[in-house]
Amino acid sequence: MHTFRALETAAYCPRKLYYRERDPDIEGPPPEIERKRELAFQYERLLTDDELLADAPVAVTPTQYRSRLGQARARLDDWAALADPPDRDVLLTGKDARGIAHKVLADPPRPSLVFGGDPPDCGVWEPQTVRLVAAAKALAWERECPVETAFAEYPAHGVVRRVALTTRRNAAYRSALRTARALDGPPARTDDRAKCDPCEYRSQCGVRTRSLKSLL
Ligand code: SF4
Repeated sequence: MHTFRALETAAYCPRKLYYRERDPDIEGPPPEIERKRELAFQYERLLTDDELLADAPVAVTPTQYRSRLGQARARLDDWAALADPPDRDVLLTGKDARGIAHKVLADPPRPSLVFGGDPPDCGVWEPQTVRLVAAAKALAWERECPVETAFAEYPAHGVVRRVALTTRRNAAYRSALRTARALDGPPARTDDRAKCDPCEYRSQCGVRTRSLKSLL
């Protein structure tokens, strides 16, 4: 059974998934990413505690940060549960995939995933969409009820988004699942070389990244 992270990686670049499965020892997220993720569990304090916010690894000014969180609080009916989730870091096991949901909301059940990176201008990055769908499907499988939305949080930016499990997003999930299942050797490199710059496998992959090109 694949992990949510593996399916996200398959959607990002199948070759990256090949490397990750071949060399599973590469370290997990760096501590600064963990610090950013932890902000997702401190929203109410970040709205009121100036000192906490001043020391927090946020990517925007304190005023912008509070404005964004304030908008999310006003917009989302589920804000109270997102800010103080009943269940945290829940291992979900579905029919096809398993992994951790950083928050699980009740009535109706929905997963929320917390991302340490930057959000797109709107919506969610496609590989992260796949991870969200995987978490929602696993939750639905466990609770034996439909799960039609999930949440994506980018706490370093004060951004919280509700994500509907649309036909297109479900199709992206199924495509990633097929890709992961079919993996039996190194796939072709991605055509989108912008993805290679932050990839931890770029040296063994042999791609010439933008930063290297600029040195030549
Ligand atoms: S360097 Fe680029 S092509 Fe190679 S695994 Fe990473 S993202 Fe894929």
